[in-house]
Amino acid sequence: MPHIISTKISRKDFLRKSVRIGGALATMGMFYKPSRAVNNPSVHLGILADTHVAAYKNEQYRGFFPSKNFQQVLAQVSEKNPEAMIITGDIARLKGELGDYSAIQDQFLTLNNNMPVLMALGNHDDRRNFSDIFNNNSQNKQEVFNKHVLVADYGQFRIVLLDSLMYVNKTPGFLGLEQRNWLQRYLDIPDERPVFIFVHHTLNNGDTDLLDADRLFKILKKQKKVKAIFYGHSHVYKITERDKIKLINIPAVGYNFIDSQPVGWLEARLSADKGIFTLHAIGGNIENNGQVTEIKWR
Ligand SMILES: [Zn+2]
Repeated sequence: MPHIISTKISRKDFLRKSVRIGGALATMGMFYKPSRAVNNPSVHLGILADTHVAAYKNEQYRGFFPSKNFQQVLAQVSEKNPEAMIITGDIARLKGELGDYSAIQDQFLTLNNNMPVLMALGNHDDRRNFSDIFNNNSQNKQEVFNKHVLVADYGQFRIVLLDSLMYVNKTPGFLGLEQRNWLQRYLDIPDERPVFIFVHHTLNNGDTDLLDADRLFKILKKQKKVKAIFYGHSHVYKITERDKIKLINIPAVGYNFIDSQPVGWLEARLSADKGIFTLHAIGGNIENNGQVTEIKWR
């Protein structure tokens, strides 16, 4: 969630499939083939991070209720009706339990019909439990051993979701050689359409960041088609740059770590030369709610 949800799964189908397989462990195949977006000059996305939804819906942390926040954000996303919603990891509360994903799956039912959802995994996710709930036989899934890697093609743009989950419920992240090699091969294919990368972990040089971030940048630096990396993990909203690639840190849906940070999501319009971002803050520091930021790509 998905991984990509995709193809037009109507609410009725969704329910029917869920019911047929039976409650909490409902699985389904989701294929994401953008329709509205193909060949449009820009793509409209709802970008979320760190939802931290628990099976127990009144679970709270730092005075925030992640499930309620998620519900509120899904309502806002539905209203804005982007072409897809992307969650950049730490979807589940702490250990990626089946009950967490099942609660999330239930909440997805409130999203607009047919809205595709693409999800990357974070350090509080569990790859196996995730795929048990959001069975991934989607055509967007790439062949990378033991990693959940997705590609969505928008005609004029491409989106890549990487998997930085190393150990469940331990903070650092890692892509690993096989995934980096896959990425290198993918980017070496002669195709100059812009690529946007989504990954959970922060890209600094610390023990809690993406441990192979330097090796990732070594690959990306030379690939001018890569315009930006979207990530979560820090529960902070900020936009920076490295090697001329824009780094967009998505605020958390679940809770912030410091009071000065918003809790919410980012609405994005990506085009070949720039991105326009609207912050939707629902909690924490809401001072900049509605703030629009425009940035030019390299
Ligand atoms: Zn988190």
